[in-house]
Amino acid sequence: ERRMLIAGNWKMNGLASQIAEAEAVADTWRAPKSEVLICPPATLVGALASALGGSAVAVGGQDCHAEPSGAHTGDISAQMLKDSGARFCLTGHSERRTDHGESDADVQAKSHAAQAAGLIAVICIGETLDEREGEKTLDVIRAQLAGSVPDTATAANTVIAYEPVWAIGTGLVPTIAQISEAHDFMRAELVARFGAQANDMRLLYGGSVKPANAAEIFAVENVDGALVGGASLKAADFNGIIAAA
Ligand code: 13P
Repeated sequence: ERRMLIAGNWKMNGLASQIAEAEAVADTWRAPKSEVLICPPATLVGALASALGGSAVAVGGQDCHAEPSGAHTGDISAQMLKDSGARFCLTGHSERRTDHGESDADVQAKSHAAQAAGLIAVICIGETLDEREGEKTLDVIRAQLAGSVPDTATAANTVIAYEPVWAIGTGLVPTIAQISEAHDFMRAELVARFGAQANDMRLLYGGSVKPANAAEIFAVENVDGALVGGASLKAADFNGIIAAA
């Protein structure tokens, strides 16, 4: 039985004052049924991990370098995130792929680095609107899973987040049938590659998840939680999504 994971991605949002929102989430959920995760900007990882220490809310990074250390000005390694109190790290978010030209091979190397540092990699994939309209969605999912997920992936060190690019920050959400089709396909692809243990790997949906649409999305068989952007910034919204799981 897979435990649901409700993950917030604050993206490039949040000054020190934003920590109070995470504390309000932690105060609401002392022993949540689902696992709860917040991925703040790197500047807040350490402070958030301190503020949430001993709570049921975990902290994650939004990206990591593929190397553990070295001459890479401005970059942050998975080891550093782990050392700052992170337990998870997002990899391959579409905004990283677009803004920083990250390829599947880059994402695979980063995901492996996160696992090697003892973090759980939350590997993000998803098609663009052009790809959806060109009926390429399942081909894109297959290629991104094959290219971005390292051979070292297990149900314990890896989570997959399906985030259609056209649903991110747009208020547009795929139909329940489209979400179900994508998640069933991901499950089958992962089981074909990793065997039955992939039945325990969590598959999150992301893209315009709100308190009002969370329950029907969470009812989909192979949806094991959500990766939430905008609605993770306010405790009231994020709590509403956690409550729906
Ligand atoms: P929104 O929830 O703001 O659409 O963002 C989704 C996302 O990209 C989470 O990583």
